Amino acid sequence: MSERPLVVAVDGPSGSGKSSVAKGVATRFGYRYLDTGAMYRAATWLVLERGADPSDPRAVRALLTDMDIISGTDPENPTIRIAGVDVGGPIRGTRVTDSVSAVSAVPDVRALLRRLQRAEVSQAIASGHGIVVEGRDIGTEVLPDADVKVFLTADPAVRAARRAAQDAQERRPSSGVEATEEALRERDRKDSTRTHSPLRMHDDATLVDATDMDLAQTIDAVALLVLSVREESR
Ligand code: C5P
Repeated sequence: MSERPLVVAVDGPSGSGKSSVAKGVATRFGYRYLDTGAMYRAATWLVLERGADPSDPRAVRALLTDMDIISGTDPENPTIRIAGVDVGGPIRGTRVTDSVSAVSAVPDVRALLRRLQRAEVSQAIASGHGIVVEGRDIGTEVLPDADVKVFLTADPAVRAARRAAQDAQERRPSSGVEATEEALRERDRKDSTRTHSPLRMHDDATLVDATDMDLAQTIDAVALLVLSVREESR
């Protein structure tokens, strides 16, 4: 019997390693991979590019119709385009990072991206692929019926050190570990306290605390959860 393609939701705070873990799990199982944070970052890039104020919800809403976002879901080469522009590089810069929480708090932006995210999942399943979707509200709002729900976290100081190391490796300008930790905590605060779809762990989710685990161990831990659901659903 062929395996039923599974939907795996990976939520958690900034810098918890969601992207690396989600990509690793997707690659291991031959699944697609969707980075919903990249979609919010792309929307934010567009707002800034058009000279609109990211903290003005009306100005952000006025750009909704231009937010046609195309996500490439190959875990070994994820891509992201908005309004026809490849924004994979620019969305990782500090300008976008500093404004993304404001843009992603706008309910109409969330409704639009939620629709696009669900469509990607339906497409993957229709083509016989499982999918790993990472974000903040995947298990709670976007895909409450996901087969596997993981809440991935780690101590803030560890998350900041990993993020700073990643910035250095990818030659992105970094403001140092302390400032990175401060910025992570601030983004977590905004993402957890917003009115619409705040970051929170779903009751059904399994908590994975990666403070003392390396990447390979964390991928193994999540892969085990996927395998056990696969066994149950045979
Ligand atoms: O995951 P990443 O750090 O790239 O996400 C960037 C931002 O996008 C988050 O800080 C959050 O404001 C927003 N986001 C969200 N909901 C998601 C994914 C990301 O609000 N599902």
